[in-house]
Amino acid sequence: MTITLSAHLARVYDLLIATYGEPQNEPDYDPVGGLIGTILSQHTSDINSERAYKQLVETFPTWEDVRDAPTYKVAEAILSGGLANIKARRIQDVLHELTELQAQRGDTRPLAHALDELSHTQPEEAWRSLRKLPGVGPKTAACVLMFNLDMPVMPVDTHVHRVSQRLGLIGPKVSADQAHDIFARHLPPEWVYPLHVNLIRHGRLVCNAQRPKCEQCTLYSECAFVGSVDVQETLLSVEQCSHSPIPLSPVYPASGGAPRSGG
Ligand code: SF4
Repeated sequence: MTITLSAHLARVYDLLIATYGEPQNEPDYDPVGGLIGTILSQHTSDINSERAYKQLVETFPTWEDVRDAPTYKVAEAILSGGLANIKARRIQDVLHELTELQAQRGDTRPLAHALDELSHTQPEEAWRSLRKLPGVGPKTAACVLMFNLDMPVMPVDTHVHRVSQRLGLIGPKVSADQAHDIFARHLPPEWVYPLHVNLIRHGRLVCNAQRPKCEQCTLYSECAFVGSVDVQETLLSVEQCSHSPIPLSPVYPASGGAPRSGG
């Protein structure tokens, strides 16, 4: 990371903290519950997905019960989360896969403990393990690692992606999946959770998709979208940083080349 890149990122980080405060993560160290909750959160609001999760665990006392229930029953329980049939199948697929993995290693504990070992592994290894599960993409894996296990891997949702592009942190053609990789190379671990939460707050409150409120934005002086900074100087470079917590994929072009939703 060059001095210029670091200074821009640091100013963005500091301005967000000054505007929204420094949020603290409260991990529950329940990666199985977190994984199911993240699947339920895809393509819906937090309120709807939380309601669906609550109904799911109230209907089925254990994850084994969810796994073995008729899929339509699971779908009925999570109806409020939207895309119920798709998510029900996805949840059961993941639970079946976790069951098989437990059997392979002779783990006879309840399914709720199937991912407990992740908290004793390095983020890179935990990331790999989650990505092997059916339907688990970069964002879902990052959500579980960051929210549930307090690991420094930043999920890139639509708000994080949009605001980061406008600020000139990532290029206009860098996808959200690719952005996981880029942020993993650059963010100090202690910045990951606060930056994630504050970029989402900013995206929801100020830097809206259709009508960003630039005239009242505290990041105006750091924004490429309004021309305050030159993206050629602010784009996070794709050279590997030593503290990347996730396995790095082949280098993407920063301004060209090569999505809790869609994995
Ligand atoms: S100045 Fe406008 S585009 Fe830039 S971050 Fe603020 S609201 Fe978003």
